[in-house]
Amino acid sequence: VIEIRNLHKAYGALEVIKGVDIAARKGDVVSLIGSSGSGKSTILRCANLLEDSQQGDILFKGEPVRWKGAGLNRHPADPRQVLRIRTNLSMVFQQFNLWAHLTILQNVMEAPVTVLGRDRHEAEGAARKYLHKVGIGDKCDVYPAQLSGGQQQRAAIARALCMEPEALLFDEPTSALDPELEQEVIRVIKDLATEGRTMMIVTHDMRMAADVSDHVVFLHQGLIEEQGPPDALFGRPKSERLQQFLSSTN
Ligand code: ATP
Ligand code: MG
Repeated sequence: VIEIRNLHKAYGALEVIKGVDIAARKGDVVSLIGSSGSGKSTILRCANLLEDSQQGDILFKGEPVRWKGAGLNRHPADPRQVLRIRTNLSMVFQQFNLWAHLTILQNVMEAPVTVLGRDRHEAEGAARKYLHKVGIGDKCDVYPAQLSGGQQQRAAIARALCMEPEALLFDEPTSALDPELEQEVIRVIKDLATEGRTMMIVTHDMRMAADVSDHVVFLHQGLIEEQGPPDALFGRPKSERLQQFLSSTN
């Protein structure tokens, strides 16, 4: 569904991604782990074109992003392609990013109606279905501030699902939550993995990464240091940096 080849990304003179290859096939769950500043969020943001990148290819369902310009002036050439890719790689953020002045139902149906031009009734039906699926079907008419953090994050996941995306991208979906609320969100992510959803997940939660992933990528300073299936990566880490990282997160 999504393939990143030889990605390079700099912020001005600061090179933060230095040649990274990552792919998620249909139904794959790929987790990105690594210390703070290693480039995990940047890779997700480049993948769904929230950020430009200087070099490398990004393919969505085999279709390469078309670029114009080069180096720091490289941008996607076709805004319609950007919109298509971005709506198909729906992102869930650490801080939920719900609109405070809209009810939960309105939050979830907003983008399908305004971005995809869906019929309001259909979008409302889908929104209710996904809110029910994440376990907050009874919260349609309240505002985000009236929900717990775990409930808000589940609403954000329902909002991403309501776009009917090809894949979901999660950036630290549980980091802003208290441990007991974290579990509600992990449950939902596990259910999505069991359903065969394609997902890329940036996380500090090694338990979740081990439980839900088909493939885990350990990043260090903008490069892949080690990658593999979770049992190998967590059970028999080869690189000293990964061993250190894992002992520091326990
Ligand atoms: P964390 O675990 O703290 O979220 P991360 O692995 O997600 O870290 P990134 O946010 O991808 O790391 O950042 C990678 C590097 O890029 C860091 O050195 C960071 O300071 C830098 N960086 C990120 N965003 C910007 C920006 N908008 N402008 C300049 N530098 C940035
Ligand atoms: Mg980050």
